[in-house]
Amino acid sequence: MACTVEQGSPQLPLLDFSALERHELEDAVVALGLPRFRGRQIFHWIHQRDGRDFATMTNLPQGLRQALAARGSIVEPVLDVKQVSTDGTTKFLLQLADRRRIEAVYIPDTPAQTFCISTQVGCAMACGFCLTGKMSLVRHLTAGEIVGQVRTLARETGLAGTAFNIVLMGMGEPLHNYDATMKALRILTDKEGLGVPPRRITLSTVGVVPGLKRLAQEAIMPNLAISLHATTDEQRDVLAPINRKYKLQELMDACREFPLRRRSRITFEYVLLDHVNDTPEDARRLVRLLDGIQAKVNLLPLNEAEGIPYKRPSDERVNAFAAILADHDVTVSVRKSRGRDIRAACGQLLVEKALEGE
Ligand code: SAH
Repeated sequence: MACTVEQGSPQLPLLDFSALERHELEDAVVALGLPRFRGRQIFHWIHQRDGRDFATMTNLPQGLRQALAARGSIVEPVLDVKQVSTDGTTKFLLQLADRRRIEAVYIPDTPAQTFCISTQVGCAMACGFCLTGKMSLVRHLTAGEIVGQVRTLARETGLAGTAFNIVLMGMGEPLHNYDATMKALRILTDKEGLGVPPRRITLSTVGVVPGLKRLAQEAIMPNLAISLHATTDEQRDVLAPINRKYKLQELMDACREFPLRRRSRITFEYVLLDHVNDTPEDARRLVRLLDGIQAKVNLLPLNEAEGIPYKRPSDERVNAFAAILADHDVTVSVRKSRGRDIRAACGQLLVEKALEGE
């Protein structure tokens, strides 16, 4: 939220106004000796009207605009590279203030318009098939950096002001950066800002159980996706090492207790790895694990990459796995890989540059 640069007020660190919730912005404005409603106006400018420079906020008094500029700025990720896939999926490489880079992806017509955004630079979870995991964690993103990806993508895709979905499925584990992620969700859903309804937001987690329990208590309830990938502790310990800490049973219990909105279900993501976790026995164990949970399963045939020691199963194997679930009345879909030609697909985000450059 705050960064120190030698300009502006000497005793206070400069603020990133885009990382402030509306009430925090109102407090900041009051601290400058101004009326509280100015905070709402500024929030509105930043998140609804895409204001990036106080000078453009023409309904604010000139003096206030100058005071704000002296107190901080509206920090934005800078678009570095934009790549469009043959299927329309667009990958954005964004540079942060400290020159670290993250990726965000626009996935059109699913049928909704979806922004896939990151919550960390790199990731500490080290899942065995994920390229981002190979980077390790470089740092958490701030709430401003998380929200800034949405503003940038909305502007770049021309979708500002329209209804779009947000999935926290880019780089990073959202529940490992809990506070910034929730702050970002509060900013994104605020009706005075972008006003994205929580039902249009999906938080995907590998299963950080204490984070799940906290999330269960939150006022804002996004859709929940659990990256499961395995049906025995032995196998999950290898594929998703967080399982060594929070075992399958504990994770499934937390899912069972998770409060769901009426008609909503938890999505279980399952990366299919050829002859590793894609056998009929795996499918049957998965059915049993999901017993008593309002669940749907999203199968993700592996997006292969160099350095990943697994193979994508054949379509026949994928279909056979899906058929067993369907036969047991489990709702199942197979994720169509989008943007594979530009390495925008799941698990393929930013590793080459990170390995080369940083
Ligand atoms: N850390 C969060 C969100 C990021 S990953 C989580 O684990 O849910 C988003 C999804 O892509 C996860 O389900 C992840 O397991 C999956 N994924 C990672 N690498 C993949 C790959 N190579 N092929 C297919 N899906 C992959």
